Amino acid sequence: MQMAANPPLHLQVPVKPFRLTRFFSLASLIGTVIVTICLFLTYRELSIRQLVEHEGRANADLTRAFANSMWDDYRGFIMSAGGRTRGDLIADPVFPRLNNEVRIKMAGTKVAKVKIYHRSGLTVFSTDDKQVGEDKSGNAGFRGALAGKTVSQIVFREKFDSFEGVISNRNLIFSYIPVRPAADGTPEGVFEVYSDVTDLLVQEEKAQWQVAGVVLALLATLYLFLFSVVRKADAIISRQEQEREAQAQEVRHLAYHDVLTGLPNRAYFGERLGETISMASRKGVSCALLFVDLDRFKMVNDSLGHAAGDALLVEVARRIRANLRNSDLLFRMGGDEFTIILQDVVPPEDAAHVADRVLDAVGQTISIHEHEVSVDASIGIAVFPGDGDSADELLKHADAAMYSAKESGRGNYAFFRRDMNRRAVNRLGLEAALKKAHRDNEFVLHYQPRYDTKQRCIVALEALLRWQNPERGLVAPGEFIGILEESGMMNRVGEWVLRTACAQARRWHEGGDGALRISVNVSAVQFRNPAFVGVVRDVIAETGIGANLVELELTESMLISNMEQTRATIAALKALGVRIAIDDFGTGYSSLNYLRHFDVDYLKIDKSFVTGIEGGVRDQQVAIAIGELARALQITVVAEGIETELQAQFFSNIHCGEFQGFLFSRPVTGEQVSAILHGDPAGLA
Ligand code: C2E
Ligand code: MG
Ligand code: MG
Repeated sequence: MQMAANPPLHLQVPVKPFRLTRFFSLASLIGTVIVTICLFLTYRELSIRQLVEHEGRANADLTRAFANSMWDDYRGFIMSAGGRTRGDLIADPVFPRLNNEVRIKMAGTKVAKVKIYHRSGLTVFSTDDKQVGEDKSGNAGFRGALAGKTVSQIVFREKFDSFEGVISNRNLIFSYIPVRPAADGTPEGVFEVYSDVTDLLVQEEKAQWQVAGVVLALLATLYLFLFSVVRKADAIISRQEQEREAQAQEVRHLAYHDVLTGLPNRAYFGERLGETISMASRKGVSCALLFVDLDRFKMVNDSLGHAAGDALLVEVARRIRANLRNSDLLFRMGGDEFTIILQDVVPPEDAAHVADRVLDAVGQTISIHEHEVSVDASIGIAVFPGDGDSADELLKHADAAMYSAKESGRGNYAFFRRDMNRRAVNRLGLEAALKKAHRDNEFVLHYQPRYDTKQRCIVALEALLRWQNPERGLVAPGEFIGILEESGMMNRVGEWVLRTACAQARRWHEGGDGALRISVNVSAVQFRNPAFVGVVRDVIAETGIGANLVELELTESMLISNMEQTRATIAALKALGVRIAIDDFGTGYSSLNYLRHFDVDYLKIDKSFVTGIEGGVRDQQVAIAIGELARALQITVVAEGIETELQAQFFSNIHCGEFQGFLFSRPVTGEQVSAILHGDPAGLA
């Protein structure tokens, strides 16, 4: 069950999850662009270099062929031109011939301009005759060629005077080429040839873009493939992340919540109470802690079973939560204990109102597994500041107040008072003292006689447990039976009671009172113990008492759970020969129905009921009906707590079989019983 309205555990700073796909997309996009640009630039650089080399070589070959075919004719003119002026050179009749021949030979080739230099750097010839006579001796290309190397370079010209006229926006490769008639001779002159590579470059560029396009397409395909892989991986990673987060949340939830009710648990309570106290002290306001404990939960658990107990707790938790404000915090501390933190409680009456509402809601009948169950709660209230400065202290005091509320009767709340601490300490001390009492034989039995209503003679004795404590004196069972049950001592002490009572009865029988029955109270803890029937059998055998003189007193609540098992246990006990009595009839479910199902011998009407018949006709009528039914079922009715002759008279009239009460005798010691039995009235208390 999930309880609503308690605020979330911790505010967690959300951690932005790492998204692989996004990271991959960005990184690979940048990578693709960089790779493509680098590839493009490298390829371009390489292809231009290759073009220049290639064209430079072509220029050199062309020039060599050209020079070979005409050098002999013009060698004299070129080599002797040193020191001549432009006008002189152009006016030379060789010049137009050379010009003519060059143009004829270069026509139809990529060559756009041809220049011929004298070894001194003088421009002897140029298809652009304005340049004739210029000095190029300082030019690096010229000097390289003079040293025997062919030097090529690419340039871009917006306007260029080619020998076929002015051309614009051209990419040109110019090469300085040495002219050497013998392969290893010194250059006799230098040619400078310009080739127009614009068209080649355009084609080259086109090829570059095509390569870049193909590379881009390949990278894009690779990217898409990897993207789909990464996306899949990303989906798996994020699913795993979600699963891990869900598991972590589940673990956190389990650590801080009670599985049964879904409420925050004791661990979380400790944290929140501390926080609430610090907050209240900062703001200068008060807060309150309510400690809620169910009053008859153990009885439901013992009688209806654990599944019913669980269902009851879930319903109680739901009812409490429904009666709180959203800002109030509810916790299950374990077992049948709950705590409520009221934040910002200004007057303490607010806490009292909440306690009232919770008590009212919990006290309403709850229907569980076809049983109508009613439980009550006791609530202890401790308020900060005043009742404690720390979470521990406040809890301890609310707990002490709760015990005090319990002591004042069911379904109450109590505010903490300083003197309550002492009592809480006492309770813990009591548990330890009871353990010691069992060891040191401080438990004793008193016996209360039961009288036949007609003969007014003793027919049975009820064994009642007492604690004879050196400091406290004689302690009544009401003060410690509950603690014996809770601390797990009840089975041992109960067995001691049965053995001691049977041994005592056996002595009375041997003393001449052979028909006296002994009745022993059995707690639910003992009755549910699988070893119980065996214990009863052993005690009867050990003490040698007649089994039909042993009576076991069960309470109503033990009978209504697990009918089959209860019937089987009662049948096994009856098979031993013992008698069964229903004790305290009228205080529990008072359902006459179950009397049909169980083979019981006695019905002990509770004192409160007996007292009630003096108060009204209605109680009398109910008592009469019970008497009739019991008679029909052949069950003997025992009236408990008879204190007045009037009560004795009434129950005698309705065919009640036996009396037990202070009117006849209080519980007394074994010796006193012996005295009474032997006619000594001093034995009567
Ligand atoms: P119970 O079994 O109903 O016992 C009767 C109780 O009523 C006894 O209280 C007895 O002293 C008291 N009583 C009897 N007649 C009168 C009367 O006329 N007026 C008043 N005011 N009281 C009367 P006691 O001895 O204090 O025992 C209380 C309860 O403790 C018992 O109620 C029984 O439930 C439980 N108890 C006692 N001894 C044992 C034991 O050995 N084992 C278990 N499991 N429970 C025990
Ligand atoms: Mg009894
Ligand atoms: Mg009783």
